[in-house]
Amino acid sequence: MAGHSFTRVHIPPRKLVVITAPSGAGKSSIVKKLLRHNPELSFSVSCTTREKRDGEVHGEHYYFISVDEFKRKQAANEFVESEEVYPGQFYGTLRTEVERVWNHRKVVLFDIDVKGALNLKKQFGEDCLTIFIAPPSTESLINRLKNRATENEKSLKARIKRSEEELSYADKFDKTVVNKDFDIASMRVKNHITAFLQSATVHVH
Ligand code: 5GP
Repeated sequence: MAGHSFTRVHIPPRKLVVITAPSGAGKSSIVKKLLRHNPELSFSVSCTTREKRDGEVHGEHYYFISVDEFKRKQAANEFVESEEVYPGQFYGTLRTEVERVWNHRKVVLFDIDVKGALNLKKQFGEDCLTIFIAPPSTESLINRLKNRATENEKSLKARIKRSEEELSYADKFDKTVVNKDFDIASMRVKNHITAFLQSATVHVH
């Protein structure tokens, strides 16, 4: 009962928050900020077959595995969702990863591509909030991708093509936040998450 003096508020169990965007829209920075300031959220570490970048840590940013290992896990139904995000580069969320976070009584936070996000929404419905981070313009997206020192010419072209395609998915998610100003966008994302978790909050008397 709202307002009851013995009401205790709990973090709702088994919830998922998915941040998705075209590559280059700045979603990873928003996810990092959310993780720094919101201890109730815990990151879902994905498996990937792509090369590890400088500064990335196995088990923290990704589980870096071979294509063979990825295919084996896929065949064994170990992924709750998986995609070939770029030709020959596979990404996937392990079922055990989601359970691991839930077992710590936290909300799982995802940084995944648009198809993976839709896939999770389909499976988890109301328990899953999907937020699409949109760039202020297509040009800003391309500029961001170009400024990334990590990309070689070939993978840059593939990423630009993919990002443009992903932009067309914008209206398929629960919420959209335009990332024009990083702090404002982060705050809007945070507010959406707070509202989602509050609406799902369990009141124990
Ligand atoms: P990056 O290689 O730049 O880290 O990630 C490339 C894209 O793959 C990003 O859009 C990222 O969000 C997405 N991604 C990362 N992990 C997963 C995952 O487990 N599943 C899916 N479907 N996409 C992922």
